[in-house]
Amino acid sequence: MQKTIETLSGDTPGTTFQFPVLRFAGTDGEAPGAYLQGALHGNELPGVVALHYLVPMLERAEAEGRLRGNVTVVPQANPLASGQHLFQEHMGRYDFQSRGNFNRDFPLLDTPDASNLPSDDAPLAAPVRLKARLLSLALGHDIVLDLHCDDEGPSYLYIARAYWPHMQDLAASLGSVAVLLWDDSSDGAFEEAAWSPYRNLPDEDPSWRRRAVTTVEFRGQSDVTPAFARSDADGLYRFLVARGVIEDATLAPLPAWNGTVTPLERIEMVRAPVGGAVLYHVVPGDRVEEGALLVTLLTAPGEAGGEREVRAPQAGLVLTRKRQRLARTGDDLLKLLGSRPSATAKAGPLES
Ligand SMILES: [Zn+2]
Repeated sequence: MQKTIETLSGDTPGTTFQFPVLRFAGTDGEAPGAYLQGALHGNELPGVVALHYLVPMLERAEAEGRLRGNVTVVPQANPLASGQHLFQEHMGRYDFQSRGNFNRDFPLLDTPDASNLPSDDAPLAAPVRLKARLLSLALGHDIVLDLHCDDEGPSYLYIARAYWPHMQDLAASLGSVAVLLWDDSSDGAFEEAAWSPYRNLPDEDPSWRRRAVTTVEFRGQSDVTPAFARSDADGLYRFLVARGVIEDATLAPLPAWNGTVTPLERIEMVRAPVGGAVLYHVVPGDRVEEGALLVTLLTAPGEAGGEREVRAPQAGLVLTRKRQRLARTGDDLLKLLGSRPSATAKAGPLES
């Protein structure tokens, strides 16, 4: 393993940001390479701890000559987000300065040539230069996995529709409960940027079968435990073996995958019609009928008429819910995977 440090200039004199990059050298130049990063949203740590357990497995494979492809690991990809605290609260999703989502607006390149990306001395704000740096680190790898998590929920995946079912092996490796298929645009999420240079390759292009690019949602923000970290590291390792990045004859074949596949337009983003304390009547994994009571919002606690019920707009599977128990009018409350298009579906990513 080779460790290097990436340094990014801050936007004011005397400030810099750094993050380590761990590289593992494969023995076969023809084997697929893999890039894995965690915590692009600074407070999403299940991927970080999974990578902590994956690294020794990669080191062992490298030492034993079983690592065929090159692997690059960036355990904590966003030092800007990791340092964003306000009054004891960690806020890692949006850049404090621009209020932009750290996982949007990555450069969408036509070719995998990183030389046109802005360098650190470009007159651009640090988050913009960080995005260019992360993309340049990922380019050249056939497999790119961006490890995130949701608020509360099971392990699931976002996958571009063009990659399905080509990436069913990832869902099987990780034991993902669901796969959400997106079309067209994710507003420049990292996975879209990592795929963009290869997006228009014809189906018969030989490199197509090697490629796997996606956003992994490793459960909820509080699901940071040794047991989850080990099992997620095992899942990532299993996938790298399945794709020929690592050799390991001791692994059993991948199990069949029978999770739920849902295009984004069939996902009900159930929102709060009014603000108030949130009482959930369902947990992630519940199957509900149309009209089932999902949430009671307390708009005037203790008073007659002080409750507002939120019911399921169609039958489906409750995938995730919010950690925050005080909702504002219009806030997302939960994701429900339905079987018909949602009346409130919109183009682009599910969340801002
Ligand atoms: Zn995220």
